[in-house]
Amino acid sequence: MTLISEITPQPTRTAIDEHLEGQQTPRHSNRLGGSVIGKKCSRELFYGFRWAFPAEKFKGRILRLFGVGHQLEAEFSNYIRNTGANVYELDPVTGKQFEVNAIGGHVVGFLDGKGIGLAEAPKQMHLIEYKTHNDKSFKDLVKKGLQVSKPEHYAQMQTYMHLTGLTCGLYVAYNKNDSDLHVIRVKYNNEDATALMAKAERIITDIAPPAKISTDPSHFDCRFCKAFEICHKQELPERNCRTCMHSYADTMGDKGQWVCGKDKKVIATAFQKQTHPCHRYLPQLLSWKQCDAKIDEDSGELISVGYQRDDGIFWDSGPGVEAEVTPPPSPEIAIMPWHVMPGGSS
Ligand code: SF4
Ligand code: SF4
Repeated sequence: MTLISEITPQPTRTAIDEHLEGQQTPRHSNRLGGSVIGKKCSRELFYGFRWAFPAEKFKGRILRLFGVGHQLEAEFSNYIRNTGANVYELDPVTGKQFEVNAIGGHVVGFLDGKGIGLAEAPKQMHLIEYKTHNDKSFKDLVKKGLQVSKPEHYAQMQTYMHLTGLTCGLYVAYNKNDSDLHVIRVKYNNEDATALMAKAERIITDIAPPAKISTDPSHFDCRFCKAFEICHKQELPERNCRTCMHSYADTMGDKGQWVCGKDKKVIATAFQKQTHPCHRYLPQLLSWKQCDAKIDEDSGELISVGYQRDDGIFWDSGPGVEAEVTPPPSPEIAIMPWHVMPGGSS
């Protein structure tokens, strides 16, 4: 016999999803997360840091996965405490999660915890990182090890150890399929950590995106990349202060501030999110071919630039020529004082 609930729509399930999805506020990450710095494609990180593609909106199922993973962290800490170790989830100074930050506060990370008295090396304080895995991912981790199987997690731990001064970490993997655990002790590797910090610095301070990991749009990593349309299809990035040629990340402070070079002012996060009439795309973010430039003969200042998309559409902010672009480009995109841009050349 077929049950009624199996043949009808599932309104409760739908309502759960709708509630979860309605609660979320998709937002760009203000800073470069230590948890993503190990991503394979630096170009994707650059686009993300510059808010070039829309903030991600997650389905109810994914939001539940995040929630379950978060709830399990307290349980994992208790498992470890039950072995006789001390586990600290909160920074006693702030009463919040241990936080690390670097490069003017533009890199940020939050530790799952620190632990001492661990069976592996009781006298040494360890960084602790918890990750839940599906069965396939868990088995791959067991077979290949952390660095090969989960390079992003390895990079996250190296970054956090580098910024806390800890020399050892404990990676606790949990199999959601059968509750199996796999615990890996990770040693700090100065060479790897330094390379990761250099990578982060380039993403934060460069004005041009790093090279593509592949020029082939069907490359496995590209097909699932949030920057795919911008990177391979010549879509225009979002229009906000981070995609504007005048903005740059201030690396002198520790708060992850952004500055508008035009107004010479720190720009608040809420303001950065908006589209302003003064917005001018950072040209390097556009993969249109630059095909023309007009320069004021008297001042030598660049007045306008023409761009052409691969399908032939031409776009020039100068008088007389309009492009068919959606959304409409910033007016006068090409009036770009290259020489006053951070890292720009005359
Ligand atoms: S589409 Fe490919 S090359 Fe472009 S940012 Fe994404 S992963 Fe990198
Ligand atoms: S010029 Fe306008 S859009 Fe550009 S960074 Fe300054 S305030 Fe933002």
